[in-house]
Amino acid sequence: MPLLSRRDVIASAALAAALGVGAPVTLITPAQAQKTPPPATPFRRFAVGTFECTAVYDGIWEKPHDPAFIKNASVDDVKRALRAAGQTDEFVPIPFIPLVVSTGRDLVLFDAGTGGQVQPTAGTLLDNMKEAGLDPGKITTIMISHFHPDHIFGLMEKGSNAALFPNAEIVVSTAEYKFWTDPAVIEKLPEARRPLAKRIQSTFPAWKNVRQVDGEMEVAPGIRSIATPGHTPGHIAFHIASGGEQMIYSGDTFYQPALSLRTPHWHGSFDQDGPLAEKSRRALADRIVADKVPVAGYHFPWPGAGVLEKDGSGYALTPAKA
Ligand SMILES: [Zn+2]
Repeated sequence: MPLLSRRDVIASAALAAALGVGAPVTLITPAQAQKTPPPATPFRRFAVGTFECTAVYDGIWEKPHDPAFIKNASVDDVKRALRAAGQTDEFVPIPFIPLVVSTGRDLVLFDAGTGGQVQPTAGTLLDNMKEAGLDPGKITTIMISHFHPDHIFGLMEKGSNAALFPNAEIVVSTAEYKFWTDPAVIEKLPEARRPLAKRIQSTFPAWKNVRQVDGEMEVAPGIRSIATPGHTPGHIAFHIASGGEQMIYSGDTFYQPALSLRTPHWHGSFDQDGPLAEKSRRALADRIVADKVPVAGYHFPWPGAGVLEKDGSGYALTPAKA
């Protein structure tokens, strides 16, 4: 399904006007071209102790099927897994769902969204935060799970790369920071990832509000980091606790849960180190199941949270009601 970008639509409109055929031409806007409607209410609130948590919708990538997507599974296997999880098999649905946690002291954003620079229809985080009564200008802390574009481009202005959250503290893992800011990494990366590393190197090192954290430690009152490497070298998840209640924000540890949780041994092209990513996701999933902790995931079905159970050699996610 070709998805028209905003630029294509503008170009088509200009072309139609130039040809003098404005009236009969039906233009497809990006929102119409997308098959998944945005949620009627683009935010969902829940409590962890005294912390007020809000999942906020930033959009969705309707990823076309690709035989190279999972190294040890076919497109048919992927379609079957999506159907088994109650999802469409027409494409791989990859929503973007940052989490906002108001602790009373801090307003914490978990992953910064796409900034409208990853998929033409995504980038609704800031508007939807406002709709939820949350002021993006009041964010005190941004916890970054890893440096892939859909998690950090929301920190950078399109074109200028200007910092969009100069007054918030940006918390990143040391291993992730070191990997992407090493000038030598550019040559080692596949061609398609080089622009990302260049963009990171022209932004993060110049920012004064980045704090690096290591392994498992308290990164803010009630919030601890959990090392979950593999998806990227320094990927981290977060443990959120208040008043005897807890939750895990898993970032991309489980990526698309219909694929990575049911069959944790599937090694996707999205994981930089497949075997290490599998080890990390099994360890985190086992911990979530043993401790009976609800889990949030950046690419989980809306509203981006649910509960896990062991299911054979994998795990079954029961998503929170949409
Ligand atoms: Zn992601």
